[in-house]
Amino acid sequence: MREARDLQQLLLELTARDVLRDADSKSKIRAKPLSSEILRMRGNVVSMRTTSGTTRGKHWNQTIQLLGLRKALDKFRGGKSTLMKALVQAIKFGDVKVHCTCPAYKWWGYAYISTQLGYKFSRKQNIFPKIRNPSLRGTVCKHLINALGALPFNVPSLVKRARKAGIA
Ligand SMILES: [Zn+2]
Repeated sequence: MREARDLQQLLLELTARDVLRDADSKSKIRAKPLSSEILRMRGNVVSMRTTSGTTRGKHWNQTIQLLGLRKALDKFRGGKSTLMKALVQAIKFGDVKVHCTCPAYKWWGYAYISTQLGYKFSRKQNIFPKIRNPSLRGTVCKHLINALGALPFNVPSLVKRARKAGIA
């Protein structure tokens, strides 16, 4: 029983790095030419938008919840650059929950996979993708791959937004 519980625990905790590592290679390649930007930050929830990749001028929105932020803030509180250190720690080592508004995320199995593995932000998707992704390949769409990959480079901008939002 202990093993089963450990496995479940393991499945319910995924960092951005885990999600990126297990993404499918086609989506990883398609994510490369895209560009992401931060829109806002509320509590531990970062809103971003990423170019669609297929339609010029079109964007899809991503939500990335940094589950480790509160704990990281406590860890660094009272020292120098608390917010920056906490964000770096939460992005690098903390668990995340994610969502993208694109159709691929919803219909190609990523919303289902992230629901099953516990890293889906907001509404659960329990419809098995039996036509588009029956072998459940990958973890997230190309937009989330780009957005998650861009997060570490956006720490200064996140610090500003977090300050504005009164996070620390
Ligand atoms: Zn997407």
